[in-house]
Amino acid sequence: MSTQLAIAKAGKISSEMKEVAESEKTTPESIREKISEGKVVITKNIQHEIKPLGVGAGLRTKVNANIGSSMDDASLQKELEKLDVAVRAGADAIMDLSTGGNINAIRKAIIKKSKVPVGTVPIYQIACENIINKRSLMEMTGEDMFEIIEQHGREGVDFITVHCGVIQESVKRLDDEGRLLNIVSRGGSMLAKWMKYHKEENPLYVQFDRLLEIARECDMTLSLGDGLRPGCLSDATDRAQVQETIILGELAQRAKKADVQVMIEGPGHMPMDQIAANIVLQKRLCHDAPFYVLGPLVTDIAPGYDHITSAIGGAIAAMAGADFLCYVTPSEHLRLPELNDIKEGVIAAKIAAHAADIAIGIPGAIKKDNYMAEMRKKLDWEKQFSTALDPEKAKMLKKSKQTSEDDTCTMCASLCSIKIGNEL
Ligand code: SF4
Repeated sequence: MSTQLAIAKAGKISSEMKEVAESEKTTPESIREKISEGKVVITKNIQHEIKPLGVGAGLRTKVNANIGSSMDDASLQKELEKLDVAVRAGADAIMDLSTGGNINAIRKAIIKKSKVPVGTVPIYQIACENIINKRSLMEMTGEDMFEIIEQHGREGVDFITVHCGVIQESVKRLDDEGRLLNIVSRGGSMLAKWMKYHKEENPLYVQFDRLLEIARECDMTLSLGDGLRPGCLSDATDRAQVQETIILGELAQRAKKADVQVMIEGPGHMPMDQIAANIVLQKRLCHDAPFYVLGPLVTDIAPGYDHITSAIGGAIAAMAGADFLCYVTPSEHLRLPELNDIKEGVIAAKIAAHAADIAIGIPGAIKKDNYMAEMRKKLDWEKQFSTALDPEKAKMLKKSKQTSEDDTCTMCASLCSIKIGNEL
């Protein structure tokens, strides 16, 4: 079975490329060319019936929402509700990071119901199954990892995070330099512990060709995870993080040669002044592979408001060239997100993505803003609500206060400058 990358490299245009071109307001040839260069991916497993999503250079910045159960909070029904809320709020993709309950059933139900691409982190499942079966995580084998990855691919997962860059050398570099917060990626920490315990190299790195074969079979995009990402501002852009990016760049090049679509994941927590430089570094080292960033969170002291700290970082990152923002919810660092946290997280990330798209001149990005300005001038409230990123909230706030004049709001009441301006 041909992947989108193989088709693009052969100079052919697939129906998926045409669909992506239409939604991105560009030509199918431009999408084909960027896929063939590894600058754009279409995250769609051949088994999954969804609208293909393009991620990468020159395209609208996309937003991912992480959902999934935990061992303390596991319900299939609730995860399907989270999927609905995330997609209704505008998420372009979701990742099922379930670590509790019947993980297989939850994932299958999400894949079946989702009309947007679904991503997973397969190593989480091995860790959970070991705990459920009262086995130590250290009993996990390389074989377990590949079996789970194969299973996710067969079931139709569109993209997987694989922490192939966590290798003995990069972990040693992290230890030697020292960190304030050590390893904060769940997958990264599990692998580092396993590698230290067994004194072995990361199987996902050593057997990367096997991973490529599995991914190629179903055109599952590999999202090369940042297992050594900084988890606090103080650890940002350290040697381990940079070395991991170099390794991911090398693996991305191998993936491209093998016709496997690949994206690179990035940090994390980072001071604002380092974000643009990190994007330049990643794009250079990874030959312009699409960059998928978590946050970055620009301060560590705002628990409860981390959807805002990450939206600030996400806007700067997307303006500097990041292609895909993973949302962060107000619950980050505190609990498993509830439905409203998911909505707020998606909206915050959408604001960041949209603001960046306007700044970098993505075709048509500013159109809705101009329409909103026209509707504000006309004091047409219904059209303002329907244009808003969060129509429900806009409507609720407007209608929560009785106005003295029909067409204004309580902010300036009869001193409404728009109305006065219109009368002029
Ligand atoms: S009352 Fe003030 S805030 Fe409200 S619409 Fe008029 S100018 Fe805008």
